Amino acid sequence: MLELNKNKIPKIIAVSKTFPIEKILPLIEYGHKDFGENKVQECADKWRDVKLENKEIDLHLIGKLQRNKVKLAVEMFDYIHSVDNEKLAKKISEEAVKIKKIMKIFIQVNIGNENQKSGIDVEDLFKFYEYCKKLNLNVVGLMCIPPLNQDPQKFFIKMESLKKELNLEGLSMGMSADYLEAVKYSSSYVRIGSNIFGNRN
Ligand SMILES: *Cc1c(COP(=O)(O)O)cnc(C)c1O
Repeated sequence: MLELNKNKIPKIIAVSKTFPIEKILPLIEYGHKDFGENKVQECADKWRDVKLENKEIDLHLIGKLQRNKVKLAVEMFDYIHSVDNEKLAKKISEEAVKIKKIMKIFIQVNIGNENQKSGIDVEDLFKFYEYCKKLNLNVVGLMCIPPLNQDPQKFFIKMESLKKELNLEGLSMGMSADYLEAVKYSSSYVRIGSNIFGNRN
């Protein structure tokens, strides 16, 4: 049996990217509340009406955010998981102020120190966290996508310890292939796509 740290049950973000709203509605009717999308425009097109009718739904942006999409992203999403540089954080903060929203964010960490990978370097994390707080962003926690084709365990361990050092509440980690491992290290938001909706093309 799987033992969860501190008996904290992680939230499941149903990652509905690429799937049409008809495939998602049964889950909403069932009462599921957290959904993840990776593209801002796709999210707006798909979710605007449904979200108006179901205010309790929380939408999570889990994909890379371009600065020219920030305004729409701040409008549509309840959480942004992919904040990883100062310019982006500043822009999010500015757009949030305009509509009087305290934006909930995760700082994405490049935990495998990979070239080309999104996320802030671990060595810059503490300074960036302070920067985000000054901007009046609500930093819920840290997010990562560990390197492909490697055992994710050591990366999850490192994430858990960074989260503790910063005294943060949340950890967004674990996908269909590795969520069971992630929850051992106190993940609080697992992002599950294909295990729920089936394979994407
Ligand atoms: C697509 C995606 C997921 C979900 O992936 P699955 O393997 O289908 O569970 C989780 N996190 C991010 C950042 C994604 O882009």
